[in-house]
Amino acid sequence: MGVNGTHPAAPDELAARYRSIIEATVDGVIIIDEHGTIETFNRAAERIFGYTAEEVLGRNVSLLMPEPDAGRHDAYMQRSLGGGEPRIIGIGRQVLGRRKSGETFPLELGVGEIAGLAPRRFIGTVRDITRRRQLEDALAAREQELTQLLDNAPIGIFAAASSGRLVQVNPALCALTGYSAAELLATTVSDLTAPEDRDYLREAYVAVFEGERSECQCRLRWMHRDGSIIHVELHAVAVESGSPLVIGQVLNRTEQVRSERESREISARLAHAGRVSTLGEMASAIAHEINQPLTAISAFAQACCRLLDQGEPDQAMLRDTLESIGAQALRAGDVVRRIRGFVSNRESARVASDLNQIIAAVLEFADFDLRSHEVQVTTRLADDLPTVLVDPLQIQQVCLNLVRNAIDAMDAQPAEQRRLEIVTARGSNGATLSCSDSGPGVPADMRERLFQPFQTTKAEGMGMGLSISASIVAAHGGRLRYADDAANGASFVMNLPAALD
Ligand code: ADP
Repeated sequence: MGVNGTHPAAPDELAARYRSIIEATVDGVIIIDEHGTIETFNRAAERIFGYTAEEVLGRNVSLLMPEPDAGRHDAYMQRSLGGGEPRIIGIGRQVLGRRKSGETFPLELGVGEIAGLAPRRFIGTVRDITRRRQLEDALAAREQELTQLLDNAPIGIFAAASSGRLVQVNPALCALTGYSAAELLATTVSDLTAPEDRDYLREAYVAVFEGERSECQCRLRWMHRDGSIIHVELHAVAVESGSPLVIGQVLNRTEQVRSERESREISARLAHAGRVSTLGEMASAIAHEINQPLTAISAFAQACCRLLDQGEPDQAMLRDTLESIGAQALRAGDVVRRIRGFVSNRESARVASDLNQIIAAVLEFADFDLRSHEVQVTTRLADDLPTVLVDPLQIQQVCLNLVRNAIDAMDAQPAEQRRLEIVTARGSNGATLSCSDSGPGVPADMRERLFQPFQTTKAEGMGMGLSISASIVAAHGGRLRYADDAANGASFVMNLPAALD
């Protein structure tokens, strides 16, 4: 056995063996002499160049090259043979080849000298890389497109590693944050986020990275390079490209947040004005409500005086009467407390609330008004209402407005026909409250303008109640509408979205 497990072979047999290896090779193999004359041209070379071996054997190898290489090839060879710097031997390189059809194509060429032969022989291996080049070009074009897309995208885009470190950013992100790309690439998403929001960001980010969620969308406060706060909406998705990456899209919401805050302030002021005006309309009812305990207190006080005049007053009776005075004073105080609460002009605050409790508070507040107008109230309150995220005071105001409009609408009816029905129900995506009365209903020509400001049919009316109410409900993501299908009288329906868990 010879080296590498081959038997020593006779020279003829060895030559035959090498020939068959050359023929079987998938790369083109071309052997030339020191003048560049082709001596061997294997099958793969035939396939690549489109020539048969017969056509090229004995011809100069420059035949297989386009200009200018073809014209210079002899000079190249002379240099190499003359001991000049071998520019190609032993180094694989990409050059252009020329097929029989004249078509040029990229090829990878390896050239070596066959050792120990005189005259010298050179062997070239040739691989057609047209397809690879096409793929590389397509890839480069795609990358170029992507870069253009990133560069021209109107929103901030970044790629971040699992540590949160930014590994790619686009110009819009630089413009948004005030940092240069180099500065951003030395920072993390967390560094950009205001300290108060970092825990929230970490949670969302980790959830995406650890595959708990495929994407996350969150609103965050970021810090601009100049120290100001920018409100952003971050949409992040995890992608697997070698190592895990998060691709983030960042929208600047600063303007939107500012205008939302402004409109919240305006609607809070409007709502407050509405409450003050409702209270003004209720003034005589309220005065009556307070007057009652005051009258009672006065009567009880006279009774006390009479008891004391008796010389030896009945202690137990005296105590009872004084206790009644105390209770009436508390009742009056309670009315005052509720009024103050109702007109308080404080920041609007949304809390998870139960619509049933809100309407119960409203009916308590309007109790005297309802009783003095002899309105029979029935309630059907659902016990499976979803919680709603609302400013309870503002929603009370809406409900009170509906109740007061109903009272007004039924004033001309005979007392026994004044009925108000309040129903709450679980809706498809939240809670619903309807307020239906047995009055004349809203005239057809009024229905379209019902929620516009200054639309009133009342001599003393301002026509602001329903318009303020509708805007309060809309600001809560809900809707207030007039139900056309009311069997008799008017029916107003308020929908409020369920609070998200
Ligand atoms: P105002 O009560 O000051 O008129 P609103 O905006 O609350 O202002 O109501 C506008 C108008 O809508 C009322 O003037 C009345 O014509 C009509 N309206 C509201 N509620 C009812 C109701 N329950 N029944 C009949 N008409 C109603």
